[in-house]
Amino acid sequence: MKINQIRNATIVVEYAGNKFLIDPMLANKGTYPPFPNSPRQDQKNPIISLPTSIDNIISNVDAVILTHLHLDHFDDAAKEALPKDIKMFVQNDEDANEVKNAGFVNVEVLQENTVFKEIQLVKTKGEHGRGEILKIAGQVCGIIFKHSSEKTLYVAGDTVWYEAVREVIDTHKPEIIVVNGGDNQFFEGGSLIMGKDDIYEVYKAAPDAKIIVVHMEAVNHWALSREELKSFLNEKGIAAHVAVPDDGESYVF
Ligand SMILES: [Zn+2]
Repeated sequence: MKINQIRNATIVVEYAGNKFLIDPMLANKGTYPPFPNSPRQDQKNPIISLPTSIDNIISNVDAVILTHLHLDHFDDAAKEALPKDIKMFVQNDEDANEVKNAGFVNVEVLQENTVFKEIQLVKTKGEHGRGEILKIAGQVCGIIFKHSSEKTLYVAGDTVWYEAVREVIDTHKPEIIVVNGGDNQFFEGGSLIMGKDDIYEVYKAAPDAKIIVVHMEAVNHWALSREELKSFLNEKGIAAHVAVPDDGESYVF
């Protein structure tokens, strides 16, 4: 497999001969207002440019997976750029309706036993924060990819560390794990996605896996920089297990 970090949570996964685009936010730098009640109100989203052209990102994509529909995971630029008949996977009927309303005609709700071109796709649980903020943050999912010719891949999505993430790791024993780790937050309500302590918990639960941390330094409300995470990983002695890609960087496993 090949995993290419694009920007924020947008990644391209080539897996068992198919190309998946996950959580496409494709707008130019500075297109949208900053998320309110959060740091860097002087920076419009996305706060950095794409590392490559939209054409490069979307060409030959076999399926798009949307873990949820927040702007930093599926935006107007993606809706415009993607062919309306492309295969779209979403987490539930509500999101399916919204994606269909945007004009897409080939939308499927992920299940725990979805099969796409002989690849098993397993929808996994996530929690987009802790406590009260969950009501506002809404439902999210992650995905397990399995195929006989590939290592098992777990794309956790916008979730903090909690019991269900451990269960996914224990059940599916993924060898590659992608986590969203910018510790994004509003002024109140705590972490919406993983911070460095959550990432350390993922490592302890899957010490033999390769962990890739994305969703960093791309929208205004980030709280954990790549530099801070890398020095934390060095302190803990786990830098060889956890990769922190720059935008545009890719890995082959
Ligand atoms: Zn997000």
